[in-house]
Amino acid sequence: MKTFLILGGGTGGTLMANKLAKRLDAHDWKIVVVDKDETHYYQPGFLFIPFGIYKPEDVVKQKRAFLPSNVEFIVSDIEKIEPAENRVVLKKDDRVLNYDTLLIATGTDIHPEEIEGMLDGGWHQNIFDFYTYAGTTALSQFLKKFNSGRLVFNVAEMPIKCPVAPLEFMMLADDYFVRRGIRSKVELVYATPLSGAFTKPRSSEALGGMLDKKGIHIEPDFAVSGVDSARNVISSYDGRELNYDLLVTIPTNMGADFIGRSGMGDDLNFVPTNKHTLQADKWPNIWVIGDAANVPASKAGAVAHFESDTLTENILHQIKGEPLEETFDGHANCYIESGHGKALLIDFNYDTEPLPGTYPLPVIGPFSLLKESVINHWGKLAFRWMYWNLIVKGRPMPVSTQMTMVGKRP
Ligand SMILES: Cc1cc2nc3c(=O)[nH]c(=O)nc-3n(C[C@H](O)[C@H](O)[C@H](O)COP(=O)(O)OP(=O)(O)OC[C@H]3O[C@@H](n4cnc5c(N)ncnc54)[C@H](O)[C@@H]3O)c2cc1C
Repeated sequence: MKTFLILGGGTGGTLMANKLAKRLDAHDWKIVVVDKDETHYYQPGFLFIPFGIYKPEDVVKQKRAFLPSNVEFIVSDIEKIEPAENRVVLKKDDRVLNYDTLLIATGTDIHPEEIEGMLDGGWHQNIFDFYTYAGTTALSQFLKKFNSGRLVFNVAEMPIKCPVAPLEFMMLADDYFVRRGIRSKVELVYATPLSGAFTKPRSSEALGGMLDKKGIHIEPDFAVSGVDSARNVISSYDGRELNYDLLVTIPTNMGADFIGRSGMGDDLNFVPTNKHTLQADKWPNIWVIGDAANVPASKAGAVAHFESDTLTENILHQIKGEPLEETFDGHANCYIESGHGKALLIDFNYDTEPLPGTYPLPVIGPFSLLKESVINHWGKLAFRWMYWNLIVKGRPMPVSTQMTMVGKRP
C-alpha cells in the first residue's frame, strides 16, 4: 500500500482529497490528510462579518465532514518535512508519517509581528486584521461602537491572499457607514504599497476611479515601516505618517513556518513550484496547491480550484510514468464587492490582465467584467454555496479551467 499524504485540509487540500479519492486505485493507495485545525473556515466570508452581512457561525464547518470516509484525517501541527527521506514529522507525539507522494496545501497566514510596533498595545484594541476568524469577529464588535473618526487601511506588502479583498473592504465600509447615517463623520484612507488601487493596470484604473468617487483617499507607494500605537500613527519608510482612530491591516502574508524549518521555502516560506505543472521545483514526488506555492498567480480559492485539474492529471501521469502536462495558465477569477448591492467580476491569467466585457455562465450568467452589476453581487453571495457544495467536494463546475477570451474586449 502506498501513501498519498496531503498537508493542509483547507480549500486546496480538501478538494484534492476528494478528487484523488475518486481517481487513485484504493487497493494501491491510502490518502492521509493532516491539519492542525478541525474547523474549516469559509475565508471569503471573513469580509462580510465586520459589516454584519454574515454572522461568525455562517463561515464555519467541520473539516472531517468534507473528506471522503476512506481518507484518514490526522489533527496535528507539522514540525517538518524531510524530503530526502520521504517523511513528515508531526508535532503531536513526534509521530513520523512516511509518504510516497506529498501534496503541500498549507496556505498562507498573516504575520503582524513582522511590522514593528503592530502588536504593542493596539492589537485587537483599535488595530485589527480581518484575515483571521479572531480578527474579523473582534473587528465586527469594534465597528458597532465606532461612530466617527479616521479609518486607515494598510496592506503591508505583496503578495497577499485575495488581493482584491482590501478594496472590497473599503467599498463595503463606505456602504456600511452610509447605511448607519455617519459616512460624513468617517474618513476612509487606503494606504497601499502599490502605486495604484490594484496590481494590473486596467483594473487598477477602474477600481481607483471607484474609490475616488466614494470619497476614499488612496495613499500609494506606502511601504510601512512601523506602528506607534501610543500615538495611533502608522509610518512609511519615506517618512510619511498617517494618524488613525481605527487601523485595519493586512500584515505580511507568509507560508507555514515548518516550510522554512524544512529548508523548502523562499524568504516568505512559499514553496518554489513550477508555474505550469505545479510540481515542486526540487522534488519530483512533491506537489503544491494554492496559497503555499510561489507561483505568480493570485492567491485565491478559485485559483486552487483551477489548479486542481492540472494537479490531478499530473499526479496520475507521474504514477503511470507518463510526461507531465504544462496546463495551468494562472487562471483566476474573483467577484469584487463594491457596496450598495453591487459587485464587479475580474477574470485573468498569467498573460492576460483583467479585461472588460462579459463572462459567460450557463443559466445564471453572463456576468459583466470589470463593471458593477447587481447580478455580480448575487454571484458573490452564491459563491458560498458553490464553495461548500461543489468546490471543496471536488465536483465539476460549469466554468472553463483555463481562461478563455470568449466575451472579453481586449
Ligand atoms: C478575507 C478573505 C477573503 C477572500 N475572498 C476570496 C474570494 O472572494 N475568492 C477566492 O477565490 N478566494 C478568496 N480568498 C482566498 C482563499 O480563501 C484562499 O486563497 C484559499 O483558501 C487558499 O486555499 P489553500 O488550500 O491554499 O489554503 P487554506 O484554505 O488557507 O488551507 C490551509 C490549511 O493548512 C492548515 N495548516 C497551515 N499550517 C499548518 C501546520 N503547520 N500544520 C498543520 N496544518 C496547517 C490550515 O489550518 C488550513 O486548514 C479570501 C481570503 C480571505 C482571508
